[in-house]
Amino acid sequence: ENKTETVNFGAGPAKVPHSVLLEAQKELLDYKGLGISVLEMSHRSADFTKILNSTENLLRELLYIPENYKVIFLQGGGSAQFSAVPLNLLGLKEERCADYIVTGAWSAKAAKEAEKYGKVNIVHPKLDSYTKIPDPNTWKLSPGASYVYYCSNETVNGVEFDFIPDIKEAVLACDMSSNFLSKPVDVSKFGLIFAGAQKNIGCAGVTVVIVREDLLGVALKECPVVLDYKIQSGNNSIYNTPPCFSIYIMGLVLEWIKNNGSAEAMEKLNITKSKLIYDLINESNGFYVCPVEVKSRSRMNIPFRIGNNNGDAALEKTFLDEAAKLGMISLKGHRSVGGIRVSLYNAITVEEARKLAEFMKVFMKTHQS
Ligand code: PLP
Repeated sequence: ENKTETVNFGAGPAKVPHSVLLEAQKELLDYKGLGISVLEMSHRSADFTKILNSTENLLRELLYIPENYKVIFLQGGGSAQFSAVPLNLLGLKEERCADYIVTGAWSAKAAKEAEKYGKVNIVHPKLDSYTKIPDPNTWKLSPGASYVYYCSNETVNGVEFDFIPDIKEAVLACDMSSNFLSKPVDVSKFGLIFAGAQKNIGCAGVTVVIVREDLLGVALKECPVVLDYKIQSGNNSIYNTPPCFSIYIMGLVLEWIKNNGSAEAMEKLNITKSKLIYDLINESNGFYVCPVEVKSRSRMNIPFRIGNNNGDAALEKTFLDEAAKLGMISLKGHRSVGGIRVSLYNAITVEEARKLAEFMKVFMKTHQS
């Protein structure tokens, strides 16, 4: 059978490295000779404890996580963390107030959720469109804020921070769901980092939380026990049944990242891949239009329109159809912004990004009027 090789450019759940899938398949029925699958393993068994601990250790190694930080594996996705962050951190100061930087759909949702539990201050004037990061010199931080929150990569809008906000008076909390481990990061600058696994580090079902020890123990009394960082970290993430299989897959992906040169190498590849697409957009004389300002453009998610600023619907449909015929799938933009979105997480190879760029070039030649 002459099947076209499929390239999944989806925004998440997203491509998992092929070698990881093969490894998981090999071990699926009989994990390391135990006669059972990881799917069937008790979360309190010695064998699962090994998987859990080695996954945590790999993460600590890849990100140089300082010892005074806890690593927790939780269910509920990034969205549960929109609630967990305020529930765990608002109590750090009496005012029960938090500062939010809202640069896209995901940080907007997080801010809305936090409003249920305390006072939320958006530190900058509301943006007309999510196409840039407001100048930090214009941010008005609140003196009584327990933490300052932002999303380092807005998956829907394609806006990525290329700097870590310099916050002195409050704890910095960050949603890194869609650019986690796509580059090195100085964990010591943060009080809290969280990231869903289903983009760069595995499959859906598990969310990593990295939190500084001294911030634990002030959760609001309304905080559900499963979201309480102190309780979850005190129980090594097995206060209740964790997403065992997703943690196992994450371990395999982290090993793959390590074997491929760690976060430093991922960053180089991600720069190369995204440059292939952005260069083409920039040189297309307005045939491809990316609305995001150049310095805030994401290396992970590239949204663009075809034909004009608002997108030519027929042309965009043809683009998606023709790409799909060549095996390049999941390129449709998020329903709230339309157009095309290319996601280039760690598992996407340079060759795959190049294949897309080549297609975009040919498509432009054929359809440019
Ligand atoms: N944060 C970001 C940046 C995301 O991209 C997403 C989902 O795509 C979420 C949070 C929500 O994650 P979940 O769907 O796992 O709740």
